[in-house]
Amino acid sequence: MPHLTLRFHAELEDFLPASRRGKPLSIVFRGPQTLKHLVAAAGVPPVEVGLVRLGDARFPWDQVPPDGAHLDAFPKKPRERWPQAQPRPRFALDGHLGRLASYLRLLGFDTWYRNQVEDADLAALAAAEERVVLTRDQDLLKRRIVQYGYWVRSLEPQEQVAEVLARFDIAALAQPFTRCPRCNGLLRPAPKAEVWAQLEPLTRRYYHTFYRCEACGQVYWRGSHFDKILALLATWLPEEVLSHQTGASNA
Ligand SMILES: [Zn+2]
Repeated sequence: MPHLTLRFHAELEDFLPASRRGKPLSIVFRGPQTLKHLVAAAGVPPVEVGLVRLGDARFPWDQVPPDGAHLDAFPKKPRERWPQAQPRPRFALDGHLGRLASYLRLLGFDTWYRNQVEDADLAALAAAEERVVLTRDQDLLKRRIVQYGYWVRSLEPQEQVAEVLARFDIAALAQPFTRCPRCNGLLRPAPKAEVWAQLEPLTRRYYHTFYRCEACGQVYWRGSHFDKILALLATWLPEEVLSHQTGASNA
């Protein structure tokens, strides 16, 4: 029976049970199975894999590895995780990642999110709009239509933000306070007179700079919670990125 060994490196091991980490997997296969099929059958979404090497050469996804091969699979590099033509990644999140969606929008990343969405619809939307799927569902990532995707390891939303920033290496690309955390719309400066009717009396009295979401109309200003939000951002972003930020915050 043809067999090969396949070693998953670095964070690709997160998909393997603990007992199978730190060593090559020994795989026996029947019939002609492509590399892509073998990787998926081992439990690793191919979309997370960058390079697979046979010796010094890259082994192609759509070919059948030779009998006795020793293959090494490495994770995608950060810049391989979203389309080359885009200067910043755009995301589409599954329905369990609402807090992460709000935080990514707070950081200015274009983030599609609905709390009720079918896997097939999310995958199709991400493909059509060239968005990176972020999900806690490994099966969603294994759908053929998903070109760019990442399985979010952490269960804690603030840690999830740090994880995504690190894995995509995009902390320096953040543009805090440019996007509406509620709906993903862009924020624009709004004259006080324009938003006057939406303000409480004390806000009218003490605040003078306002921003409004182009999409949903929500008004933002640097209210009493602003320092807390800045402290949160400071846990995620380099100081120079944070100090360049301008704009609005949640009140
Ligand atoms: Zn909005």
